[in-house]
Amino acid sequence: MKIETKAVHLGDRKADPDAPGAFIPVTTPIYTAASYIYDSMAKLDRVLGHEEEGYCYSRYDNPTNAALEELMTALEGGHGALACSSGMTAMHIAVLAALTDRRKSVLAASALYGATTSLLTKVLEPIGIETNFVDICDLDQVRQKIADLKPGCVLMETISNPLLRVGAVDRIAELARAAGAALLVDNTFATPLLVRPLELGAHLSVHSATKFLAGHGDVLGGVIIADQEHADRIRTLCRTLGPVLGPFESYLTMRGIKTFALRQERQCSNACRIAAWLSSHPRVSRVHYLADPTHPDAAVIRRLLPEGLYGAVVSFELKDGRKENVFEFMDRLKLVVRATSLGDVHSLMLYPAISSHRDVAPKQRERLGIHEGLVRLCAGIEAVEDIIADLDQALA
Ligand SMILES: *Cc1c(COP(=O)(O)O)cnc(C)c1O
Repeated sequence: MKIETKAVHLGDRKADPDAPGAFIPVTTPIYTAASYIYDSMAKLDRVLGHEEEGYCYSRYDNPTNAALEELMTALEGGHGALACSSGMTAMHIAVLAALTDRRKSVLAASALYGATTSLLTKVLEPIGIETNFVDICDLDQVRQKIADLKPGCVLMETISNPLLRVGAVDRIAELARAAGAALLVDNTFATPLLVRPLELGAHLSVHSATKFLAGHGDVLGGVIIADQEHADRIRTLCRTLGPVLGPFESYLTMRGIKTFALRQERQCSNACRIAAWLSSHPRVSRVHYLADPTHPDAAVIRRLLPEGLYGAVVSFELKDGRKENVFEFMDRLKLVVRATSLGDVHSLMLYPAISSHRDVAPKQRERLGIHEGLVRLCAGIEAVEDIIADLDQALA
């Protein structure tokens, strides 16, 4: 079954058709119950003892979340999944799952979502989990650092933010596995339509479901997809820590996922057209986009991403890129929404220097290539002509 079909059908219609008076809801209802009863103590005993399938308590599992988890497991070719209250909770639990029986050390890509860097340096390092950083697109450096530092976990994003670098997940998985380390990939920017990290050898994949999966800017959530080795572990962590997504958000996320492939295709084709238009605009000095044949990771992109699906995000630099000029340009936008998120049905623009990379010192930002004139656009599903017309009048 193709991923577009899986997204629409899997996870739903799990009710027992043989139960007396049973009916099968076509889509999964929102189960708000905190706990579940059975008609005998013997059955409750078997369910609590994991001898029989069933639900007992919503911190352990919940039928609404189970439907979403089954769907995500299928979309990314995993062995199990956990729906979490945010992308960051999912990331936290995934790191704990990766390090449970490994050296308490993480080798992370130097270009990471800001809160993920904070999780490593401000939360995990102070409790004894060593953190080191590496240029994840430099395989020799990755190989060397894995050999020198012997990390328990390698952490990377499929497509980095905001400069859109693409690491060789398959090669890095080989290096990590050879050294006994787990590979954890944040797949938020790529979605399972573009990349499925577990199929490339990763142990764990994490999404901020807030972005493309839910897709409508109205829900905060996260998902971890795990291989066989880590599937039980994330469930155990879930039972003790209770990072679970609420059933209402779970429902919204699953509803969103049914159309994610359609939206993603449209968003990718919009982004492609926008990137081409921007690259010949006189006020734009540089465009970062995965379809660019001169992209520094072009070979990896060709190997790992499906033809024509190069993501919804385009970053670009204004020629006269001082902060006040960027503010003036963004203030003139009428259709494109100035907000710190991505992956929604509406186009969104963010200014990294004051948002995602606000806490990075200006000199360090320059070194990372995140210049003062750089903005990040995530194409929505609108007609591309309207998005371009808005950019055009704002750049005028
Ligand atoms: C948004 C985002 C996160 C964090 O997700 P939340 O749902 O906001 O907690 C993590 N990684 C990436 C790449 C993101 O874009």
